[in-house]
Amino acid sequence: MAEIEVDLYEVLEVHRGASADEIRKAYRKAALVNHPDKVPEDERPAAEAKFINVQKAYEILSDDDKRHIYDTHGMSAFNGAGEPGMGGGMGGMPAGFEEMFAEMFSGGMGGMPGMGGMGGMGGMPGGGRPRRSPDEEQDYEVSLEELYKGKTVKFASTKNVICSLCKGKGGKEKATAKKCSTCDGHGLQEVITQMGQFLTKQTRPCSVCNGQGSFFSPKDKCKKCKGKRTIEEKKMLEIYIAPGSREGEKIVLEGEADQIPDRENGDIIFKLVQEEHEVFDRAGSDLRAAIDITLAEALTGFSRVVLKHLDGRGIEITHPAGKVLSTGQVLKVPGEGMPIKRSDSRGDLYLAVNVKFPDESWNPTPEMLAKLQELLPKPGPAIEATTVDEVEYDPNGNMDEFGARDAQGGSAWVDDDDEEPAQCAAQ
Ligand SMILES: [Zn+2]
Ligand SMILES: [Zn+2]
Repeated sequence: MAEIEVDLYEVLEVHRGASADEIRKAYRKAALVNHPDKVPEDERPAAEAKFINVQKAYEILSDDDKRHIYDTHGMSAFNGAGEPGMGGGMGGMPAGFEEMFAEMFSGGMGGMPGMGGMGGMGGMPGGGRPRRSPDEEQDYEVSLEELYKGKTVKFASTKNVICSLCKGKGGKEKATAKKCSTCDGHGLQEVITQMGQFLTKQTRPCSVCNGQGSFFSPKDKCKKCKGKRTIEEKKMLEIYIAPGSREGEKIVLEGEADQIPDRENGDIIFKLVQEEHEVFDRAGSDLRAAIDITLAEALTGFSRVVLKHLDGRGIEITHPAGKVLSTGQVLKVPGEGMPIKRSDSRGDLYLAVNVKFPDESWNPTPEMLAKLQELLPKPGPAIEATTVDEVEYDPNGNMDEFGARDAQGGSAWVDDDDEEPAQCAAQ
């Protein structure tokens, strides 16, 4: 199988040092843009091919182990039997590599090289394991509340199971199957796919005999499965998301994927995707949130509920009088972060203080202001200067305009990330 080398980072349009988060975002974007349902009909084959490449790139780059193997060995480590250097290379591969390899190209990629390439697995050192039906992997979105409290999900799954009447043969007991002439009994077809700049030759199951290499004539087909060898069956399944589970974790329902005759059953795999939360940010087992307090509270202390936690509890903070709080100050609450799986401990909660100054609706009398002036600290010593100019000013200046008048970008920081300086200066 000759596959032209594909750079997975290029496929996802990320740099080689991209973080897991950047890769996930790039994948979502690429998957959306290249989704075959979203393009005109004549562009569909190319989009399909690109879509498969995007899936493949994400599958490898989103998994630290696979990404490491890709970074160190390149795509040839994944391309399967027949790739030059593969036989020799296998000996030096880490244990479990073969399994990973098998899993990778059987999972959710109908028609991918796995179908043809896997035949070679028998010849691998320690090979000879039965082929598996493809794993069915899908994302499962969960809210932060659900990850905090844990959740059990029941759902009905329709899957193909091996026909009980013909035991997966597809034909009547005494009937024999005819050899398929389209694929000459091999069950495989070669297809050349153009995917943008890449030209890929893939081996796919024969569409006439469904990859079987043979089929039964209409009168010999099994009455129950109509020769399809499997029938659909509905089953209730249940997954448990433990408190403290994290984004990217996989929940595996072993052997629950569609059954395929003569193969071990693949798994249904759910990959957790954490939904964004309005209030909380999560990093590992720690949580972060912003709290608003009034200027009066910042100066005089307070005791009240500042936040509703993920389980609905109010989080009360008592801050002593006379200990002034400022914007940006962080209150760390130990043990109020996310639960840590398989333990009683929890991460920490970081509360970022935001002091709300009075807005225009605040209408103090001159007496009130005089009183405040008397109560609050005075300015430092006066700045000495020989000449003094009293100037006009705009109270709503915008730091984005700083240096913008100069076409050359007179200031050093204008061409840089223009948000940062504005934020620094505003504080
Ligand atoms: Zn049957
Ligand atoms: Zn065929």
